[in-house]
Amino acid sequence: MWRFNLINTIADQANWIISSDVAIVIADKYPKAQHHYLVLPKAEISSVFNLTREHLPLLEELHLLARNVVEVRGQQWNDFKVGFHAEPSLERVHLHVISQDFVSPCLKRKKHWTSFNTALFVPYEELRDKLQSENSFQRLPPHAYHKLLDSPLQCNQCERICINLPKLKEHLLEHLLNKSDGQQKSVIYTKIETSKDKINIMDVTEKNKIKMDHIKQNIRNELRKKILDKNHILIESDRAVVVKADYPKAQYHFRVVAKEDIEDVTKLTSDHLPLLDHMMELAVQIIGKQDHLPSRNFRIGFKADPFWDRLNMHVISDDFYSLSMKRIKHWNSFNTELFLPFQQAYMMLDSEGAIETLSEVEFQKLKEQTPLHCNQCDFQSPLLLALKAHLFTHWQDKESERRTKKQMEDIVKLLDEAKLEDTAKPEAASSREEHEITASTSQKSMDQNQPVGADANAYHQCGPLVNLMNLQHINNPFRNTPARFGIAAKTHPQPTNSMYAPRPHRAGNPLAYAPRPQQGGNPFRNMPPRPQLGGNRFGPHLNRFGPQSKDMRPMFAAPNQQPRFGPKQPQNQRPRAPNQPQNQRPRGPNQPQNQGTRAPNQSKFQ
Ligand code: AMP
Ligand code: ZN
Repeated sequence: MWRFNLINTIADQANWIISSDVAIVIADKYPKAQHHYLVLPKAEISSVFNLTREHLPLLEELHLLARNVVEVRGQQWNDFKVGFHAEPSLERVHLHVISQDFVSPCLKRKKHWTSFNTALFVPYEELRDKLQSENSFQRLPPHAYHKLLDSPLQCNQCERICINLPKLKEHLLEHLLNKSDGQQKSVIYTKIETSKDKINIMDVTEKNKIKMDHIKQNIRNELRKKILDKNHILIESDRAVVVKADYPKAQYHFRVVAKEDIEDVTKLTSDHLPLLDHMMELAVQIIGKQDHLPSRNFRIGFKADPFWDRLNMHVISDDFYSLSMKRIKHWNSFNTELFLPFQQAYMMLDSEGAIETLSEVEFQKLKEQTPLHCNQCDFQSPLLLALKAHLFTHWQDKESERRTKKQMEDIVKLLDEAKLEDTAKPEAASSREEHEITASTSQKSMDQNQPVGADANAYHQCGPLVNLMNLQHINNPFRNTPARFGIAAKTHPQPTNSMYAPRPHRAGNPLAYAPRPQQGGNPFRNMPPRPQLGGNRFGPHLNRFGPQSKDMRPMFAAPNQQPRFGPKQPQNQRPRAPNQPQNQRPRGPNQPQNQGTRAPNQSKFQ
C-alpha cells in the first residue's frame, strides 16, 4: 500500500544516505527542490500526531542527522527548510530537509508548493516547542487546511505572486540561475534536460531568451533611428550628434554618438583622437546649455558594456537621481571601473594606441558588485533602494541650495532694476516698449515648433528650447522626478534667446564648436590657465582622481601601468612638488610624465 512507501524504502539499507542508532536519512524519491531528504526514526512511530514530550530527544537526533546530510552533500545549511508536513500523507514520521530553490520537475501540483510554503509546513522548532508546551501536535481543522492549500502562489524569495504554477516555476528557475555560477548553471540545465519537465522549463527559458534578444534588438533599432531623426538630435555636426538618453540614469543624461560606424570604445585607435576631441567639444556645448547645473556636476565617459552597438559617450550629471536607475548594474555601470572617463580613454589612446577590454569575469563581477558606494559621501549599502533614498537627500540639499541662490539673484536683479527705473525715467516708456517687443518675439519663437530667423539657426544648432515649466516636456530634465516626491514645476530661468544665438564670429558655420569666451554658458569660464606639463586636459570635475570620483579606481589600465585591481589610491597621494605652480593638479596614477604636452585644443578650454 502506498501509505507504507517510506517504510518499504528504508527496509533496504542501500537507500540510506546516512544513519545513526536511532534514525535514517534517505533521498526523497520525488524531490520538490534541487535537494530534498527525509529523516525517519527507526522506531515505529507512524506520524507527527503520535509524538509527545517524551520524543524530544529523538527529535533532536533527527535534526542532527538533517544537519549532517546537508554537510555530506556539500550544501549550505541556511539554504534549507527543515520541518514536518501538518498533514502528512505517508506513514512513519519523517522530517523534510529541502533546499529553498523549489526547482524540480517533481513540483507538479499547487499542493506541492503550498505544503512547503505556507503554514502547512511546520518548521522543526515549531513542532519541538509545541510538544514542549502542549505535549502533543494536533491536526488542522479541515477548513483551515483547505484554505491554506488554496493560498496564492507567492514566491518564497521575493514579493512576486504568480498566477499559476508554470509561471511560478519559471520565476523560481530565474532565481536559481541568478544565484548560480557557470558550472552550476550547466548542471541545472542538464538536470532539466534529462527530466520530464524538459519541455516546460526549457521552453520557458528559451522563450525568455528569445524575448530578451528581441527587446534588445528593438531598442537598438530605436536608438539607431534616433540618430537619424532630427527631432531627437540636440546638437549635430558632421561627425557626431548629441541626443538625450532614452532611459536617463540621472537628471541630465546625454549621449554623444559618433556617426562613423565604430562599435564601441575598445575599437578606437590613436587615429580617433581628433574624433574624441570633437565629441568632447559637443559634450562641453551640451553641458553649457544646462544653465542651472554647473559643469563640475557632469561626468563624461564611456561604458564598458555598451548596449548600443555604436560608439557613444555619456554626459551625465552626478546626482544619479532617476526613476530609470532600477538595477544594481545601472549604478555600477557609472560608478565602478565599468565607467571609463573620457580623459582616461584619451590618455590610453594617446600613449598606448588602444584601450584594453575587461575580461568577462571582471565585467560580470563589477556589474553586480556590492556594497554600493554613494558618489557624494561615505554612505554605502548593499541595497539599491537604500542608496536611491540616500541620493534623494543629496539631491534635495543641492536643490534648496540652488533655490536660495536663485532667490538672492532675483532680489539683487529686482533692486538693480528699481535703481535703473529711478535714474532713467525719461526714456522708460520707449525702452519698455522695445522690451515688450523683444519679449513677445522670444516667447513666440519658444512656443512654436519651427522657429524663424536667427532662432531657426539656434534651433538647429542647439535643439528645441527647454521649457522648464512643463514637466511633461521631453527635454525637461525634471521629467524624471518621481511624482510622489511632490516636486512641482521648477521656476528656473528660461533659457534666453541670446544663449542659443550663434556666436557672431561663428555665425553660419554650425560645425564650429569652440566654447564662447567669458560667456554664461561656457563651463570652463572660471578655470585658471592650464599648466603645460602634467596637468589634465580638462577641468577638475573631469579629473577622475579628484573628489568627484574618489571611489573609482583605474580600469582599462594600459599595459605596464598601474594594476587594475590594486589597492585604492588614496586621495592627494602625490603631494605637489615645491616648485609646482599652485593651479597644477596632482598627477593621477596613470598619467605619464609628459602627458600634458599633447593637448591639441588646449587653448580652447582656457
Ligand atoms: P508527506 O506529505 O510529508 O507524507 O511526504 C511524503 C514524501 O515522501 C513526499 O515528499 C514524497 O515525494 C516522498 N516519497 C513518496 N514515496 C517515496 C519513496 N518510495 N521513497 C522515498 N520518498 C518517497
Ligand atoms: Zn521571486
